[in-house]
Amino acid sequence: MSEQPVIHWFRRDLRITDNTALNAALETDSPVITVFCFDDKILNSPNTGTPRLAFMLNVLDNLQTAIWKAGGRLLFLRGNPLQTLPALVAETGASAVYVNKDYTPYAVSRDRAMQEALSVPLHCYDDALIMAPGTVLTKNGDPYSVYTPFKNNWRSGIKQADYAVQDTPDGHLYRIHEVDAATDLPSLEELRGDTDIDLPTATEEHAQQRLEHFTDGVIYKYDTRRNELTPDPFDGSDAGTSQLSPYFRMGVLSPRQAFTAAAKAGKNAPSDEAKASVTTWADELIWREFYMHVMAHFPHVYRGNFRDTYDNLAWDDNPDALERWKNGETGYPIVDAAMRQLKTTGWMPNRARMVVSSFLTKDLLINWREGERHFMQLLVDGDPAANNGGWQWAAGTGTDAQPYFRIFNPTSQSTKFDKNGDYIRRWVPELSDLGKKAIHEPWTMKLPPKNYPEPIVDHKQAREKTLAAFKKARGDA
Ligand code: FAD
Repeated sequence: MSEQPVIHWFRRDLRITDNTALNAALETDSPVITVFCFDDKILNSPNTGTPRLAFMLNVLDNLQTAIWKAGGRLLFLRGNPLQTLPALVAETGASAVYVNKDYTPYAVSRDRAMQEALSVPLHCYDDALIMAPGTVLTKNGDPYSVYTPFKNNWRSGIKQADYAVQDTPDGHLYRIHEVDAATDLPSLEELRGDTDIDLPTATEEHAQQRLEHFTDGVIYKYDTRRNELTPDPFDGSDAGTSQLSPYFRMGVLSPRQAFTAAAKAGKNAPSDEAKASVTTWADELIWREFYMHVMAHFPHVYRGNFRDTYDNLAWDDNPDALERWKNGETGYPIVDAAMRQLKTTGWMPNRARMVVSSFLTKDLLINWREGERHFMQLLVDGDPAANNGGWQWAAGTGTDAQPYFRIFNPTSQSTKFDKNGDYIRRWVPELSDLGKKAIHEPWTMKLPPKNYPEPIVDHKQAREKTLAAFKKARGDA
């Protein structure tokens, strides 16, 4: 064995199993130092929310225990990685640094600068996706901007080897002690303050168990249950979707582990319907890949609309309405239930995300970027690519967007997806005594509850106003 160590730098791949760059480092025959850098730029960004930071700290705490048990030690650096990592290389005499690629524009430019800052090679691996950006292109070699052809190409090119879960090699993790640069894992209080949110259990074992539980049975009903409005996430109660998003976000779970489990579920499916449900769930994993490709190929989506047609759209500047939306006080029970759930749990089911994002952009005509930022501040699974994609979809400004004229009616969404009003009752207790019909539209009652706000806008009027604004921006007016 070589005495000179190598470094594995963890970023959004916070797991030991099926970790491409860590495996490559372990295969070098050198002792492997593992490190995580707290980057002040990311810590201070308005997109770094406290709930997600708290969850990440829990993940890191469990990761350091797992690494310790495997014979190593996870080091923590704080500051600008362009300074702290080269200093660690110098201090430890490491011969190389191993990383899994992160495709956000910030991470791409940081890694480019890191190549320059390091005196040793930075080995970069594709790991966060099954198919890396650049590997799924149109016949002309262009990136896709529509999901379905992307998915068809993705599926037609996929081989079992692409999603095979890799064994962890018998390498040597290094229990290094005297490192001046390293600090202990900081607490949430030190970094940010506190959170009351009940966070998901933050271990790889738990993520694997959740995946196994989901792909053993629940997945077979995904087609019929995926739009359920799960009231309490992560508490172990029955849910129609996997609730794995926080684990994908931090890389506690790899997409290969998920796709392999889905492929197994597909093989064991008890009926054609069950098999079709498995395919639908796997398609969601491909949505995740699609939005990361969009982010990598069209980084301008971070600065604004994918379609510049809408750059002149006259959004309403209405801070009061924005606050009411954030606080769940719009007078539309389904919207308020979802926004209060987000505030209390750091999560929201996909259907609810669609409803509240449509409401902000189409009923309140508020710029989707306000909603995008608010979600990033609160979501435990807040992911730059999926979140940006979801918001631009709702606003009609994105790659594969909802057409601008298709505007959700919040009341029909409510009666359709929360038939008995249970989700609303859970999150809007002022309305808990209302019957099955009134709970969706309390303003129609003779005596509406006094402690619940009147609707902030009239949906019909808001719809007309929004259509006119979009048409004007498109030049159709
Ligand atoms: P499942 O239904 O079990 O799906 C499995 C996995 O597939 C998810 O965990 C997720 O990784 C992926 N996935 C599912 N749907 C999508 C999608 N539409 N786009 C991309 N990936 C998807 N997802 C995030 O992970 N982070 C976000 O910040 C985020 N913001 C969103 C904002 C808006 C406005 C909208 C409409 C959607 C957003 N989504 C986001 C997508 C989706 O709502 C969540 O991924 C999903 O609700 C997570 O629940 P789950 O793990 O039970 O999903």
